[in-house]
Amino acid sequence: MPRVKSILTEAKQIDRAVTLIHLGARLQVLESETDLSYERLLRLYKEVSGKSPSKGQLPFSTDWFMTWQPNIHASLFLNIHEYLNKVAAMDEIDVVIKSYKLYLEQVASQGLEPMLSVTRAWRLVKFVDNGMLTMTKCSCCGGHFVTHPHEIAKHFVCGLCNPPARAGKGKAAGSLRMESATAH
Ligand SMILES: [Zn+2]
Repeated sequence: MPRVKSILTEAKQIDRAVTLIHLGARLQVLESETDLSYERLLRLYKEVSGKSPSKGQLPFSTDWFMTWQPNIHASLFLNIHEYLNKVAAMDEIDVVIKSYKLYLEQVASQGLEPMLSVTRAWRLVKFVDNGMLTMTKCSCCGGHFVTHPHEIAKHFVCGLCNPPARAGKGKAAGSLRMESATAH
């Protein structure tokens, strides 16, 4: 029944695209993760989000992930992602979607705003896949954090254990806690 199968595949792809649009994904993510045509994706995007997709390049640099607070958010997401990747038999993009939803829940439960967009989360997984970023265990707390691949684990101290001076006394109140992500 190739016809039925193709309709089901297409329905699944539309469903994924809609979910990603709801999460705020850029059009390039949808283009990369579905076989739907650009025109259809554009129409879908406008219909679901009520606006035209933002133009411009995707963030191609790994720098953002290395800055203090973004690194903690990215690490939380990636811990969830690595865990689900191991335990759940899902397509790669569905693992990203599910992990991102859990990341949002986790951040909201701590009364914080998400810093990591779904587009960046998706990009982060690509960076890890092609070896541009990895996770290194903090020598102080034992949590796993996003780092460049050449980080020396023996000396690595994460941004929670060693926040920048400017973070000051507000660090406990202002930064994300990682317990739940590093527990597994
Ligand atoms: Zn640490």
